[in-house]
Amino acid sequence: MTTPALWSAQAHMPSVIGRQINVVSAEGAYLTTDTGARLFDGTASLWYANIGHGREEMAQVAYEQMKTLEVYHVFGRYTNNRAIELSEKLVSIAPIDDAKVILNSGGSDSIDAALKLARRYWNHVGRTDKKVIVSREGSYHGLHAYGTSIAGLDFNREGYGTDSLVAGTERVGMHDAAAFAATIERLGAESIAAYIAEPVMGTGGVHPPQEGYFEEIQRLCRENDILFIADEVITGFGRTGEMFASSRYKLQPDIIVFAKGVTSGYGALGGTLVAPRVWHPFFEQGADSPIYRHGTTYSGHPVTAALALKNLEILEREGLVARSAELERVLARELKAIESHDFVTSTRVGGFLGGIELSSDVSAEFVTDQAIEQGFITRPLRGNTVQISPPFITTDQEVRDLVGAVRRVLDAAKAKAS
Ligand code: PLP
Repeated sequence: MTTPALWSAQAHMPSVIGRQINVVSAEGAYLTTDTGARLFDGTASLWYANIGHGREEMAQVAYEQMKTLEVYHVFGRYTNNRAIELSEKLVSIAPIDDAKVILNSGGSDSIDAALKLARRYWNHVGRTDKKVIVSREGSYHGLHAYGTSIAGLDFNREGYGTDSLVAGTERVGMHDAAAFAATIERLGAESIAAYIAEPVMGTGGVHPPQEGYFEEIQRLCRENDILFIADEVITGFGRTGEMFASSRYKLQPDIIVFAKGVTSGYGALGGTLVAPRVWHPFFEQGADSPIYRHGTTYSGHPVTAALALKNLEILEREGLVARSAELERVLARELKAIESHDFVTSTRVGGFLGGIELSSDVSAEFVTDQAIEQGFITRPLRGNTVQISPPFITTDQEVRDLVGAVRRVLDAAKAKAS
């Protein structure tokens, strides 16, 4: 049997061979495959194609930047105009006052950067035992070694041995602030560096925070000198109807991790926004001020930075963050209506991202496969949940059509079962 050269991400290869969906072009909220099928991108690829696909001016900005300076690194004394401009822009819109920006190549990279920085900070201020990172059950923080180690989705940690790839990780219940308090009690605040959470949990099944949860978590962090890290890789840049979900949910993070929506996927870029408390020692004059020894070849890449700047300009110019808030309301109405279906146990919305949790009568994998046959892409998430998170350029009618397609699949499954 011939097998493909490309080893797909997160795939059970025997199951995908012969069933691959080869996307050849995309425009707006629609994809075209090599078989000529036209599919509505109901997940905005992996939650990030927020301004929509195939924007001419994005191609133009990349072209222009490549002609001027395709790349130069930002290690040590080197910098470039686009990396500077993007950092200044991000600082101006960040929900952290007087933040600094570290640029990387994606979300997993930036998780590594954030968690290493948390440990580096405590080490520098002499609290060398503060190393443990606390994350939530169900959480997804990418798949580099640190992200894998703190993963709240057990299957992402399986198969690497019983010890964590990176030592010093603890998990607590998704909505359980008391469990965090108990962890602090058990380990001692002196051993905990940081708590990290997605403001709205994405891959774990679309779980918005429960009333009062983050308030209590932040109180515990403050009282115990634990850094609070918001993983805004999905929620950043408008997905929850505000530029950052930290504003919507009144979070005051010491570090924000971002990626995806910063370029709407046009460039491989992620980063961390760092609060003054953490960055300050590293910027102080003095021969013995510490160095944060981190960075990658493409940190501050001028082409991805130029794409991010243009993406942010488009979001602002077209009012797409406000539009995302409107679309959340449309989606919420549609999901409320589908809740009465016998095969739906609950629905959740936290921004223009929604989850439809199904009963054991039907699997999310089956539903998403069937929806593709109708021309709509959704995605199965943990907890038998179907992901809905289209681009912000989606029309109200397209939201109704998308949820309508899921309903038709469920109706057909029910008719077959009875
Ligand atoms: N954090 C969250 C919340 C994510 O959803 C993801 C990716 O889906 C990541 C981190 C990792 O980002 P990347 O895939 O760009 O490495």
